[in-house]
Amino acid sequence: MRLDGRRILITGAASGIGRATAGLFRAEGARVALADRDGDRLAAAVAEMAPGAIGLACDVTDPGSVAAAVGAAAERMGGLDGVVNSAGLCTFHSFETTTAAEWSAMMAVNLTGPFHVCQAAVPHLKAAGGGTIVNIASGAGLRPLANAAAYCATKAGLLMFGKALAIDLAPAGIRVNAVCPGVVQTPMVEGLLAEEPDRAAAVERILDRYVIRRFGTVDEMASAALFLTSEESSFVTGTALAVDGGRSFH
Ligand code: NAD
Repeated sequence: MRLDGRRILITGAASGIGRATAGLFRAEGARVALADRDGDRLAAAVAEMAPGAIGLACDVTDPGSVAAAVGAAAERMGGLDGVVNSAGLCTFHSFETTTAAEWSAMMAVNLTGPFHVCQAAVPHLKAAGGGTIVNIASGAGLRPLANAAAYCATKAGLLMFGKALAIDLAPAGIRVNAVCPGVVQTPMVEGLLAEEPDRAAAVERILDRYVIRRFGTVDEMASAALFLTSEESSFVTGTALAVDGGRSFH
């Protein structure tokens, strides 16, 4: 029960890393508010975790939608002690074929989304006497990938946003950290692999620089988010924790 009684909002919680994080946090005693724009998968995730879990329809690119979801989370859980920003969007294209619309869409979800969520959540975290923010960034924010300039830029931006925020919010007792996953088997990655003509060759290419030569699991990412949300990391802020089988240093 490492999060006993904590009240945590998780975006992107209907799927993949966000969903696993919500499930683990619930199992560790937290009350969780799952926010996502995918209503059907959100309802299924909440049903798995209830009681102690609520679902909130939310588009992180829309400040009004975010304000409503964060307000409802705080009201229904009696306050807010933490946030995990996991909602994300990833497409791969060569630079020349990346459209401005694709760039803007990824910026809106991956970077401006966490900005909106943090702005709405910080007054509640302050009211609770402090708290935690965990951004699910990416190894792609530490070390670039080919044909992913837009995605890499959003995640590098998210890392620096979090570090800057860690300075501003430390006096309020709010810690801000990031998890940088390597490749993880989720619907996002399955969607990307489905576009590859030769799946096995694509997997080999991906794992080329992995020291631990396999995909990560959503549970491994959730464990990292748990560490950064729990009191065990009470002296950790502004950090980017690579959970990537060694890819970012190799
Ligand atoms: P996923 O597609 O399984 O889940 C992402 C969730 O975000 C979905 O439920 C989706 O509905 C939600 N979402 C997307 N846009 C949204 C919006 N505008 N508002 C609200 N919700 C929205 O993906 P995942 O693999 O679990 O990815 C989670 C995070 O981890 C993302 O930020 C991703 O960039 C990051 N990440 C994933 C991997 C990986 O290999 N899977 C690697 C590095 C980083």
